[in-house]
Amino acid sequence: MTFDYDLFVIGGGSGGVRAARVAAQAGAKVALAEEDRYGGTCVIRGCVPKKLMVYASSYPQMMREAQEYGWTVHAGGFDWTAFRGKLHAELDRLEGIYRNILSSNGVETFDTRATVKDAHTVRLASGGEKTAKHILIAVGGHPVKPDLPGAEHGLTSNDIFHLETLPRTMLIIGGGYIACEFACILNGLGVHVTQYYHRETQVLRGFDDEARNLVAEGMRASGVNLELGADISEMTPIEGGYRVTCRDGETREFEQVLFATGRKPNTGALGLEDTGVELGDRGEIVVDDYSQTAVPSIYAIGDVTDRVNLTPVAIREGMAFVETVFNGRPTPVDHKLIPTAIFTQPEMGTIGLTEEEAREAGEIEVYATSFKPMRQSFAGQDEKVLMKLVVSKKTRRIVGCHIVAPEAGEMIQLVGIAIKNGATKEEFDRTCAVHPTMTEELVTMREPRQDA
Ligand code: NDP
Repeated sequence: MTFDYDLFVIGGGSGGVRAARVAAQAGAKVALAEEDRYGGTCVIRGCVPKKLMVYASSYPQMMREAQEYGWTVHAGGFDWTAFRGKLHAELDRLEGIYRNILSSNGVETFDTRATVKDAHTVRLASGGEKTAKHILIAVGGHPVKPDLPGAEHGLTSNDIFHLETLPRTMLIIGGGYIACEFACILNGLGVHVTQYYHRETQVLRGFDDEARNLVAEGMRASGVNLELGADISEMTPIEGGYRVTCRDGETREFEQVLFATGRKPNTGALGLEDTGVELGDRGEIVVDDYSQTAVPSIYAIGDVTDRVNLTPVAIREGMAFVETVFNGRPTPVDHKLIPTAIFTQPEMGTIGLTEEEAREAGEIEVYATSFKPMRQSFAGQDEKVLMKLVVSKKTRRIVGCHIVAPEAGEMIQLVGIAIKNGATKEEFDRTCAVHPTMTEELVTMREPRQDA
């Protein structure tokens, strides 16, 4: 049987574009359909604009610090409209790069929605059908709001980058990556931020307790009004904003409300019902270690599979797919020991097991230190950093590392190389410190915590 293409990719985000490009470079005839903007969540409404907003929001703090170092600086106001204009110009530029990557590698693109008709056929909303030996679904996910009265008035992370004006007050609902990052960003930009987390326990559930406690402490110290056990039951529009009611009956008013209450895979109306592709409880496409679905010619990567929902993971899944299918080297995706950062202020970088998880798994030693770094201490700030290693007593390997510090994302990327490659505590100890830095503590901590 002959097909129009060797590979048809549905979705032009980070994972889909990477897979299309490397498959084309491997000699495959490739097409890709994208219904929205090229670059997907990461480039258009996620990591990239978020990080630029993190930078924008960090200047007031830097200016306060500069004053402490003897500089005469005065922060004027923040011009959201000017920043937003530059932000969108940058996103346009990046989208152009994504389109160019595809065209310069000979990938044919269709700017339209595509759905799956059968094991080898894709239906285009713009009209017509295309056949392919392999179909790769890389359509990502979308933010979801809880099912409660008035939730339709709330914003999601998709909307933040398009606000006409920054509100004076904002309620952020949720305690995950997105809620905490936007709480810090908007607080830094001068918005009065209240964050409601529905559980009584700490935000950033699933991360190391000590690390997330320190992040929450830092967020509060910088002005975020973080409220635990605050569970919203409804919101109603009022003049100039919204009235929000919690399950305990308390009501408060805010100009804007942002729901950062999780994301779901984009599998709705994708035509998968009759194809034999299996979906999980959250609507995710179920795949094996090679990203293959229950239909052998259909693969899926990235957030639509709801494995580890991070851009670099989707990219690696795309590369492994091409190795497996087009380069004849079956390559399972490695989801172990993935370093990640949460761009809160203070920032957190983490890899491996939390202290709590490691304790369940076996005997451990914990090496940790929390201190005021030189730069902030000189500027009279109370902000503390955390450097923490979790070590297996049996293998001596470092099974977890948790850093809370400015630029913790950069730090965990580097330390992650050693940990991913099985470094032991003694190997860390053999490495000479770089002085004076914050991370030198990672190679100079000699005594495990006594309570470990
Ligand atoms: P998360 O699933 O991480 O967080 C959702 C939050 O909303 C949780 O705190 C959850 O509470 C809470 N929640 C869920 N339902 C309700 C409800 N009905 N009412 C009130 N609160 C509720 O999702 P995010 O949207 O923050 O992020 C999605 C994914 O995107 C992340 O898991 C991550 O993979 C990725 N991401 C990565 C970033 C990075 O690398 N820096 C940045 C942003 C996103 P509970 O604790 O009970 O689950």
